[in-house]
Amino acid sequence: MYHLQHDFPLKSNNTFGISANAKHYLTVDSPDDLIRFFKENNPGKNEKRLFLGAGSNLLFINNFDGIVIHPEIDGIHLISENPDVAVVEAGAGVVWDQFVEWCVERGFGGVENLSLIPGNVGAVPVQNIGAYGTEAESVIAEVIGINLDTLEIKSFNHSECQFGYRTSLFKVELKERFMVTSVIFHLTKQTEFQLEYGALKAEVCRLGEINLQNIRNAVISIRESKLPDPAKVGNAGSFFKNPIVSEPIATDLKKSYPDMPVYPAGEGLEKLAAGWLIEKAGWKGRSFGNAAVHDKQALVIINKGGASGKEIFELSEKIVNDVLQKFNIELEREVLVIGN
Ligand SMILES: Cc1cc2nc3c(=O)[nH]c(=O)nc-3n(C[C@H](O)[C@H](O)[C@H](O)COP(=O)(O)OP(=O)(O)OC[C@H]3O[C@@H](n4cnc5c(N)ncnc54)[C@H](O)[C@@H]3O)c2cc1C
Repeated sequence: MYHLQHDFPLKSNNTFGISANAKHYLTVDSPDDLIRFFKENNPGKNEKRLFLGAGSNLLFINNFDGIVIHPEIDGIHLISENPDVAVVEAGAGVVWDQFVEWCVERGFGGVENLSLIPGNVGAVPVQNIGAYGTEAESVIAEVIGINLDTLEIKSFNHSECQFGYRTSLFKVELKERFMVTSVIFHLTKQTEFQLEYGALKAEVCRLGEINLQNIRNAVISIRESKLPDPAKVGNAGSFFKNPIVSEPIATDLKKSYPDMPVYPAGEGLEKLAAGWLIEKAGWKGRSFGNAAVHDKQALVIINKGGASGKEIFELSEKIVNDVLQKFNIELEREVLVIGN
């Protein structure tokens, strides 16, 4: 089935809780329905499109003057299983954390570190979500979807997806052309855990035995202690990406700021902590109108209530400018700004 609405309010469809309207809002509950809608209605190729999951990585700064497409494609299916690997397909509309819970309950590993990340399965390969030393690409085998320019169903294997840090083929080259309808994951049935990140191992050990369920519980408890719950305080998680710089730049900065955290990021590259840079630029906990930098995690911008998208964007501009002036590092937004 598909359902088309007009002048649709998006306030409860984005975790910042920003008031903005979509000119058209389409929900579909199967890939065939999406194709049927496009064949029957032929929305012009020039109509702007936005694929929308749970809206947990977006900032609307204006109304959206085009068609928002929201897949409600459900279902988690075990395709095959052997003693080492479980192959599972999940629909784009499945809530990501419900998928993680489903896997952990069955002893399928690889996604437990990504527990409690908001959003739906459809956005997972687009964003290549990551947390606690794990990135989604490590378990994504295939991404299936529809190219809306040709109305063809197409599948991309792992190496074709061009995964990078919070990015992929679908976020860049195929942006707003290819809608993900399902994702095939290869999950491990071996006891291979990734516990080296931050305080994760200590928290798991505090909970007891090292197993998938305790890792999931530990990740949830750490996340809940640090990050604001979007159901209570509007936010979109990390607003900025952690900057990746060349080794000489990181070494120079480290001379001036010996306590600055630096992580290896591939040959000749280092990753800096955007939250640390923002905090040192004096922004942690500071407000600008109805927007503010979270007082526990400087990487997160919050809507204190009634903030407009423009207000949040302006705050992010001030942060970018101050970090640039102080450290000569240009922060890049992780959140997708819509309507500029
Ligand atoms: C409190 C909080 C904590 C967070 N923590 C993390 C974290 O630890 N790690 C992390 O990586 N992210 C994190 N995020 C960001 C966010 O949860 C992820 O980016 C998530 O994958 C977004 O999913 P979504 O369904 O909300 O996507 P949306 O915000 O709706 O969309 C995000 C992007 O994906 C595209 N998209 C969505 N669905 C589809 C589809 N079916 N086909 C094609 N394109 C599509 C959109 O067009 C857009 O470009 C956090 C967010 C919040 C609010």
